[in-house]
Parts: sequence; C-alpha cells; structure tokens
Amino acid sequence: MNAPIALGSADAARLPLMLTELRMPTAKRLWADLAEQSNREGWPAERFLGALLEHEIAERETRRLQRNRVDSQLPNAKTLDLFEFDAVPTVSKAHVMALAEADSWIAQGHNLLAFGPPGVGKTHLIAGIGHALIDRGYKVLFVRTSELVQRLQAARRDLRLPQELAKLDRYDLLVLDDLSYARRDQAETSVLFELIAERYERRSIAITANAPFSEWDQVFPDRAMTVAAVDRLVHHATILEMNVDSYRRRAAMPARRHRSEPKQP
Ligand code: ADP
Ligand code: MG
Repeated sequence: MNAPIALGSADAARLPLMLTELRMPTAKRLWADLAEQSNREGWPAERFLGALLEHEIAERETRRLQRNRVDSQLPNAKTLDLFEFDAVPTVSKAHVMALAEADSWIAQGHNLLAFGPPGVGKTHLIAGIGHALIDRGYKVLFVRTSELVQRLQAARRDLRLPQELAKLDRYDLLVLDDLSYARRDQAETSVLFELIAERYERRSIAITANAPFSEWDQVFPDRAMTVAAVDRLVHHATILEMNVDSYRRRAAMPARRHRSEPKQP
C-alpha cells in the first residue's frame, strides 16, 4: 500500500526544479540515488541532508578550481611534477616546493623573479608554481608582458586604466612572462611601472626575464623609472638564477646527433 518512495510524488517532481532554482546541479543529480539509499538503510534525516550538501560543496570547489585554471591562461602541461630539477642545479627544489605551497609569500604580496637565457625552463618553473597555487585555491594570471603592456596602454587611451588595473587586482599572483621582451615606449612602459607600483607590497608579481636588471633600461622609459621599478620588485622577492645550458637545446641535441650518424649499410 506504500509507494516505494517516501516523498509524495508531487514533492519529488518539484525537487529538480527547486534544485535548479538554487543552482545546486550536484544535488540535483544525486538526490534521487541518495534518497533511495537513505530510505533503504533508514538514515536519520540529518545524515541524508549532510551527505547531499557535502557532495554539492565538494563539486562546487572542484568547478571553482577548474574555472580558475582556465581563467589563469597558464600553459597547460607546465607543471612542477614534469619539471626536472636536476637540470637546474642553481635552483633548490625544496625552496620551489615551499613557494608552491604558498608559504606566506603570496599573502604578503612578495615577488618571484626568474632569470636566465632562453630555453632554461623559466616559464615552465614559474607556470608550475602557478598551477600549484591554483590547486590551493589562489587566483593566478599568466600573461606575456608585451601583450599586457599593450592592453594597459589601450586602457589608458580609453581612460580605463584604473578599471583595468582593478581587474588585475583580483589575482593573487600576476605572472609577467618575458619582461625583457617588452620594449621601451614612453607611454607603454610607464603603464608597466604603474602596475608594479600599484601591486607593491600588496599583490605578488612573478617575472621571467632573460636579462637581470642591467638591461632593463630598454624596458622602462628612463633610468630613474628602471631603478624605481627594480627597487619595488626586489624589495621582498625570491630570485631564481637559472644560468644553465638551454634545456631545449640539450633536449634537441641527441636527436641531431642521431640524424648526423652515418647510415648503417
Ligand atoms: P624559458 O622560459 O627559460 O625560455 P621554457 O620554460 O620555455 O624556457 O622551457 C623550454 C622548453 O623546455 C619547454 O618545453 C619546457 O617545458 C622544457 N624545459 C625546460 N627546462 C625543463 C626542466 N628542467 N624540466 C623539464 N622540462 C624543461
Ligand atoms: Mg619563457
């Protein structure tokens, strides 16, 4: 005489609508199975509700991290577990792992600078730290410095620079990749300085660059601004010196040797 489902069927029919209205897609997907199990096993109501909400919260967090990762524009495959630390003896793996765990530097708005010639893994290493921070719930944005400078300059032309800088403020870490490829142009590069000054001691910046400081005169409009920018960047910063052979070149070498080997008869 009892219907197999404890809820009146009218109630049950309204549940998916209510869960949609509340934007609870996971609960909407799982409630029927969980309710069935709960009825079968005689769970107290608290346990059923708790289990349902736990699933919703867990998936919400997963979706949030996925969104943050897409939003970050970090290069996909450049994670720390794919980084060979042996190739860069000047960089301590333990130190990088501590940075990846956000051991307070992010909360304090400290910076991270990676220097070295092309191909040594600067971008990979910094992106790897970025991915690890995303895993921990932080927001990261990865940009090529020259593209960001163009964007900020356009914003300034349209009198939207403050709004554009405010958008960047949402990110706990802003990665400026290839700073030394940004080229001097009076208007352009002072937006870069404004960005650095704006984030100073509040929000972290990570920079990759081929040339440490000495050649940054080509990036900023004048000497005084270079000094002021460097000053702010290094005041609280970890510097990773990566003056090793190009990983790219070394990786390519065996293949080249192979090709030049004489053919077996
Ligand atoms: P950089 O930014 O210094 O020019 P990249 O980070 O772009 O160098 O590295 C060049 C290529 O070599 C990338 O494909 C990167 O994944 C790879 N690579 C560089 N260093 C390492 C490393 N230590 N372990 C694994 N892959 C590396
Ligand atoms: Mg790079």
